[in-house]
Amino acid sequence: SRGYTTMKTPHQNKGLGFTMAEREALGLKGLLPPATLRLEEQVELTMQELRRKSSALDKYVFLQSLQDVNSTLYYAVLSRHTYECMPFVYTPVVGEACQKFSQIYRHTPQGLYLSMDDRGKLRSILDNWPMDDIRAIVFTDGERILGLGDQGIDGMGIPVGKLALYTACAGVHPSQCLPVVLDVGTNNQAKLDDPFYIGHKRRRLTGPDYDAFIGEFIEAAVDKYGKSVMLQFEDFGNSNAFRLLYHWQEKVCCFNDDIQGTAAVALAGVLGSTALTGTAVEDHRFLFLGAGEAGAGIAELIAYAIHVETGKSMEECRKQIFMLDSKGLVCESRLHELQHHKLKFAHDVEHVGDLLSAVKTLKPTVLIGVSTLPKSFNQAVIEEMSANNKRPVIFALSNPTSKAECTPEEAYTWSNGAAVFASGSPFEPVKFKGKTLVPGQGNNAYIFPGVGLAAVACGATRITDLDMYIAAKALAKTVPQDRFDASCVYPKLEDIREVSLKVATAVAANKYATGQASVMPEPKDLEAHIRSIMYEPRY
Ligand code: NAP
Ligand code: MN
Repeated sequence: SRGYTTMKTPHQNKGLGFTMAEREALGLKGLLPPATLRLEEQVELTMQELRRKSSALDKYVFLQSLQDVNSTLYYAVLSRHTYECMPFVYTPVVGEACQKFSQIYRHTPQGLYLSMDDRGKLRSILDNWPMDDIRAIVFTDGERILGLGDQGIDGMGIPVGKLALYTACAGVHPSQCLPVVLDVGTNNQAKLDDPFYIGHKRRRLTGPDYDAFIGEFIEAAVDKYGKSVMLQFEDFGNSNAFRLLYHWQEKVCCFNDDIQGTAAVALAGVLGSTALTGTAVEDHRFLFLGAGEAGAGIAELIAYAIHVETGKSMEECRKQIFMLDSKGLVCESRLHELQHHKLKFAHDVEHVGDLLSAVKTLKPTVLIGVSTLPKSFNQAVIEEMSANNKRPVIFALSNPTSKAECTPEEAYTWSNGAAVFASGSPFEPVKFKGKTLVPGQGNNAYIFPGVGLAAVACGATRITDLDMYIAAKALAKTVPQDRFDASCVYPKLEDIREVSLKVATAVAANKYATGQASVMPEPKDLEAHIRSIMYEPRY
């Protein structure tokens, strides 16, 4: 019956939210008890039920099940209670969900599972998805899920979670979002041995076959959805991530959030810190602990920002940025053994093996941790940073919380309250000598939903470093004075929809200015136009 189908269709179902008139008109009489609830009341009830669940994974499953049953209510919950719900939709809980994804699989399509066995048929499989007007795709091959390594097909939780944030944080319409996992096998032995693992039980596809499979998918997506479909690479293994990004960023509308989204959010923190330190980005000296996807991405975008601000060559700009990896300082004497993405930062300086020595000899003004090495910003390191700088900028970005290079409490205590601190994971405010200091969270969710909204709004055909720099600048501009007064360089997560709108407007304006927009004509009032297309969950 019509009523039954309506209630079984997640974006049409309103549950007790159907009015009496709708129940008459849609053939819903008898399928519902007599009570009615307004959306706001359903949101309240849902939050009460969510808070009753005792385990984090149960909260995750509860929210996902709601998405499967009544997606309007799901997005209403997420939009109204973003700060409270985000950890159960995305990090950290999505990590545990991916580890157990095969166990909690819920018999309902949440996105596309594309398998290496389907090579040659990917384009026709895209037709099996019920929506045709797809504008944003997040896709992974599951090789490096968060900091948890290879999860194979179980990495599907990541595209699902990220796209939920596109909608909740930036109002990208849910029907225009498509999560995709590319099942190229897994090298995770526990998954291979698990009788209930839902992916292919084979070792990972590599080499030219792997590249051809990724290429077939990207070309199929562009063929079906058009050249402005936005493709977000997510949680690919280190060497594939850089290689695929360099190959595809000149050809299609794509970006890699682990590399570029992280870069933009960290750069925004640095730009914001100028309000507290008085030092502009081009006058800083940067030291990174960690030179992986996050580190190399941030370093390169900072160099790009300095390049734009000063007109110096990129090569010149990189000279004020230094990096340590697991073997100590990245420098010229190590050129022969360095991975490709580190080469540009191998400067003509003497090798030192440890962070404290590097801080002593290089005297950085900004210290950024993306190392996954907990407690590595120890008392000696922070005291040395504080001796050299009136207000040392210290970002401990490693996730999850247990991996942070230091806690805000430690950074504030050892710098006598002077540190401009940000972390990757959320931390509570700290009382220090009668003042409340608020550690900023350098959450990628400040950037990627806004960039996605921009791409959708203007039909972007490329996403460039300049876009990422502009996104970072726009984010830094949204930090209110009371946050700066508390030493915080990021806006409130509660304000994220307005923040995303500002980021999106700035990026879309750049797309029109650089001829990389395809939605014509250019709206006269871009911000008003973008606001008008933002999805609002309502009945
Ligand atoms: P990755 O690609 O695996 O890179 C990790 C880097 O840390 C590598 O360069 C590694 O050195 C280095 N490292 C490991 N142990 C070290 C040690 N003992 N001393 C010095 N360096 C060491 O990982 P990623 O994607 O860059 O992520 C790194 C961290 O950043 C993760 O914890 C992640 O959660 C966090 N992150 C935060 C945000 C955010 O806050 N918004 C965004 C993205 C990532 P080798 O190169 O020698 O192996
Ligand atoms: Mn990621």
